[in-house]
Amino acid sequence: MVIANGTEDERAFREEVFRHLEALAKFNPSGVLTSVEINSFEHRGRQIRLIFQSGIRKLQGIAAALTFRTTFTPPSKPPPYVDLTDNDGMIHYKYRGTDPGHSDNRALRMAMDERLPLAYFIGIRRGLYLPMYPMYILQEIAAQHEFIVGFSEALSLFNAYSTYKEELQRGYIDRITQARLHQPVFRARVLHAYETSCAICRLRHPKLLDAAHIIPDGNVRGDPVVPNGLSLCKIHHAAYDNNFVGITPDGVVDVQERFMKETDGQMLLHGIQKVAGIKILLPRERAAKPDKDRLAERYEEFKRAS
Ligand SMILES: [Zn+2]
Repeated sequence: MVIANGTEDERAFREEVFRHLEALAKFNPSGVLTSVEINSFEHRGRQIRLIFQSGIRKLQGIAAALTFRTTFTPPSKPPPYVDLTDNDGMIHYKYRGTDPGHSDNRALRMAMDERLPLAYFIGIRRGLYLPMYPMYILQEIAAQHEFIVGFSEALSLFNAYSTYKEELQRGYIDRITQARLHQPVFRARVLHAYETSCAICRLRHPKLLDAAHIIPDGNVRGDPVVPNGLSLCKIHHAAYDNNFVGITPDGVVDVQERFMKETDGQMLLHGIQKVAGIKILLPRERAAKPDKDRLAERYEEFKRAS
């Protein structure tokens, strides 16, 4: 396959890669894809692997990187990109090695110079990735051996990234990174641990499931690790967040007394009253199970709310 670097053909080819990922996502409402699915991409009848062992995918004829990835971390550890963020809302992607002239680093630099879109694959578990695209290499910080990566929304902002309105832009980019990167990765990791089921009612429709924090985001112990998460359906997520429903440190569902006395429709009866006293569904993997200390801390809050 020959596509000359930096041409319209190359941009069209990249669009083709994104359409392939988009089509796969339609059949995977959880948004997580296997490396086999990702690598099933075909261009002019030829299969082209998009995920590559080294991390950076380059193609013959194209000097700029096409895809890049980060590998997964165990459920109890922060997601893989955490060491790639620097509290500035930007994604910092480390060089391969320390040599700026390494072919992988050159390939990323080329994508930056040509302002070419890339696909970023974030490892959720072995062989499972959450794809993000189009992503852009915005800037190189040679002294730190890294590139700054961002979503397309950051592309225009980043050009003007300077002391002018800097704080405003930083906040905006922060929110984008939170909504488009941190939340989806936390959700994907938690849902995977619970085999895409609500821990309370066992509902198995990914579109109706969320990853709830046990200790809320922003608190000291509210880190986005799987043991601080629960896979819950929309109703049970809202009920848990509002302390209508609580979960004991041993994983038993508790319901506020006033809800138990109320008479209303089917949702209250089956969704709330009848789940009182049931054991929540737990991940099979020990490291993914909800942390008892966090559950206890949160359960105290539930009791105070009654
Ligand atoms: Zn539920």
